[in-house]
Amino acid sequence: MRHKLFIDGQWCAPVNGGTFPVVNPATEEVIHHAPAGTAEDIDLAVAAARRAFDTGPWPRMSGRERAGYLRAMAEKILERKQELGHLEVIDNGKPLPEAVWDIEDTAGCFSFYAGLAEELDDNPEETIALSEPRFSSKVVREPIGVAGAIIPWNYPLLMASWKVAPALAAGCTMVLKPSELTPLTALELAAIAEEVGLPAGVLNVVTGLGPDAGQPLSEHPDVDKLAFTGSVPTGAKIMAAAARDIKNVSLELGGKSPFVVFADSDIDKAVEWIMFGIFWNQGQVCSATSRVLVEESLYPALLERLVAEATKIQIGDGLEDGTLLGPLVSRGQHDKVLAMIARGRREGATIAHGGKRPHGLDTGYFLEPTILTDMGEDNTVWREEIFGPVVCVKTFRDEADAIRMANDSRFGLAAAVMSRDKTRCERVARAFRAGIVWINCSQPTFTEAPWGGYKQSGIGRELGRWGLNNYLEVKQITSFESDEPWGWYM
Ligand code: NAP
Ligand code: MG
Repeated sequence: MRHKLFIDGQWCAPVNGGTFPVVNPATEEVIHHAPAGTAEDIDLAVAAARRAFDTGPWPRMSGRERAGYLRAMAEKILERKQELGHLEVIDNGKPLPEAVWDIEDTAGCFSFYAGLAEELDDNPEETIALSEPRFSSKVVREPIGVAGAIIPWNYPLLMASWKVAPALAAGCTMVLKPSELTPLTALELAAIAEEVGLPAGVLNVVTGLGPDAGQPLSEHPDVDKLAFTGSVPTGAKIMAAAARDIKNVSLELGGKSPFVVFADSDIDKAVEWIMFGIFWNQGQVCSATSRVLVEESLYPALLERLVAEATKIQIGDGLEDGTLLGPLVSRGQHDKVLAMIARGRREGATIAHGGKRPHGLDTGYFLEPTILTDMGEDNTVWREEIFGPVVCVKTFRDEADAIRMANDSRFGLAAAVMSRDKTRCERVARAFRAGIVWINCSQPTFTEAPWGGYKQSGIGRELGRWGLNNYLEVKQITSFESDEPWGWYM
């Protein structure tokens, strides 16, 4: 565990010398004191990234050369996957197999964008057919410049890779600010960048608190692009900060995603995907399908089965064998989720299962997998993101009713539908107002496919070639090819 920030290829103590505690959510123990970067460190990091972009080799080398670095980073990440996974568990709380899966995905993300960096060489320009034959025009893509990345705590290293890998592939330089709740692996990513010899200043990592480090990064005039993942209120602040200098912004925000289950569904499959959609990663998943809509005739049997299966989920320290549900990330998150459940009950919801600290787990931010029913459509728990292992289940009458309820949200990140009728699934998938739609499953995520939301769930898309475009400017180069005079003034 590291005590220094990574700026301009060097490990440096924060200018103000501060630290903040890192807590293992399963034990509530302080396991580390991480360096607390502030505006002064952000200034140094942005200046390093600016120099590396304006005069350094990184944006000027070929995509193939950059791909070499990205592949080397992917390899180092994979070599260290058990150790990095372990760090994620003691930092975030998630079960170890999930954490190791995240690390494999992180490596996969670096490899994928290495491939796209090479494609930039293969397709260096695109010719545009113009309506005016005396002109020719082509389009080239160039890195945007210095990127500032601010990420959340739910998938610490993976969320970093969704921004770092495409930004580096594009030829941008960057400053990464991880969440104060999970700073450990971002600093390891810096160490990996150092090990593979990434030129100084290309990737800078400043750990610190949101208002102290994140805000100065978002307001910095030398940052060209802001890539943010987190909550809607912070996203709004990022956008406001970006407005001052007209920075390019991409936002991946929250969700309250619906999962529509028709009565012809196989009940075992429905129950397993519902649980994966909300209990995986303790429900701290932006795309979690936290609102389950069940066709009336299936509801009693499905609810009974869901409660029975949720009861069996093994809860414990993410490092223990067999744990499927770890603690929530922090005391604050634990309190927030319990407060939401209490509010939901006051507003009329019934707890069908869970809703409290599991018996025998008195230390750690543990919470039973929770199933809420009987809430009205205006109940806070039905409308607002809880970001915990809490699913709300309601019935619907028919397909039109399901679509109306599913889309009645200020969010639009993800949505899922289950039915044996493929035509119906396709029809409902098209009707959802959401950026990610799953049919007969919930949550599987692929580096190749675009990720992002409609409505207040964000702006822009990460992953796939869409993710690379976040970090590329588009330049048209238009040439007057005729020997004739233009003939306007002369
Ligand atoms: P958050 O409170 O918005 O924090 C996100 C990041 O912003 C953290 O690094 C945080 O630093 C930083 N930050 C806080 N205040 C800031 C400010 N004034 N200026 C600049 N940066 C600031 O969100 P979170 O609680 O970490 O994450 C949960 C949210 O993220 C949920 O709403 C979830 O849906 C969303 N999320 C979305 C996606 C997606 O792909 N759409 C993925 C994961 C999570 P500190 O941690 O130090 O405060
Ligand atoms: Mg922690």
